[in-house]
Amino acid sequence: MASVLAFPKIANVPPVEAGEEVRGLGRVQGFLNRFGYLTDEYSENRVDDPTSRALERFQEFNGLPATGDFDERTRAAMTQPRCAMLDMEDGVAFAARCAWGHRDLTFTFDTGTDDAGPGQEFDAVRSALQTWSASVPVTFAEVTSAQDPDIVIGWRSADDPDHSMVGGVLAHADFPPGCGVVTNGSTPKPVHFDDTEHTWSIGAVADCFDVETVALHELGHILGLGHSSVLGAVMAPLVAANMTKRDLVQDDINGALSLYSA
Ligand SMILES: [Zn+2]
Ligand SMILES: [Zn+2]
Repeated sequence: MASVLAFPKIANVPPVEAGEEVRGLGRVQGFLNRFGYLTDEYSENRVDDPTSRALERFQEFNGLPATGDFDERTRAAMTQPRCAMLDMEDGVAFAARCAWGHRDLTFTFDTGTDDAGPGQEFDAVRSALQTWSASVPVTFAEVTSAQDPDIVIGWRSADDPDHSMVGGVLAHADFPPGCGVVTNGSTPKPVHFDDTEHTWSIGAVADCFDVETVALHELGHILGLGHSSVLGAVMAPLVAANMTKRDLVQDDINGALSLYSA
């Protein structure tokens, strides 16, 4: 039973077909805009042509029938917790954005979470870093914050000043300096977990989110990967509670190797 509901206001919007209007649909349009599906002008609360096309893009990206309507399956997918990063840019999916100029990356931790035992959340992230470096020719060395790290990993409140995580999102990261959207060209690059709205766990726990699963995903963005429409890929944007993903799938590895060939 999925008792962790993301974007609860969307859960209250009734299904509506293309061409029709319904109160509250503006929430859905806001969601489609926030994640890059709807960038054209639209009329609020109406499934107009731009909104219907954006719904189709969302449906295709998330493995649903592309009806262009706001239907129940679409609503169910939109109210699943997810990553804060875009799925598309101007309505176009991007698999890989850009690579770092060097492959010996450094990282450090700042604030952790009280949801796990002392240091366990950091060990889970270290394990996710190892999973990537086992498949892709990059290395991650842990340094102190005084050593000018490439990446800083930590837990923040949902109203994170560098990229809001308020609502149904779990975490955010950024892309490498050449294609960054949060800190643009500057380092360190953030990997931030929302410590306000979610409970974190080590392993699969009811109503909680496994740190390593979400870290593995966010670190894919740090390497330069966008979201994937391949169901089951680490880089797919939706995340369920009470589950773990520990392994990259071929789609994740292919994306990373397109940026960092051996
Ligand atoms: Zn993501
Ligand atoms: Zn942040």
